[in-house]
Amino acid sequence: MSPDIMPNSRRGELTIIIPVRCFSCGGLVGDKWEEFARRVKEGEEAGRVLDSLGVKRYCCRRMLLSHVEIIDEILRFYEEASKRKLPR
Ligand SMILES: [Zn+2]
Repeated sequence: MSPDIMPNSRRGELTIIIPVRCFSCGGLVGDKWEEFARRVKEGEEAGRVLDSLGVKRYCCRRMLLSHVEIIDEILRFYEEASKRKLPR
């Protein structure tokens, strides 16, 4: 894991760990994640947000719809593991 993503996560900012491109067709989806997540969190319907972002193919739509931001969960274990590696 790259250490340069850790400061962002500690500040509570949205860290993009969504794949940059769709696994099936290679369409760009990574740049749409932040707006998609923010608008859905604000209560907009996910399907309408995807339509307005121009994400039309269902392979690309599932990339955003099924993405779960778990980086903060993983970092907790990463930090714990690095503490244990310190010399005693
Ligand atoms: Zn696609």
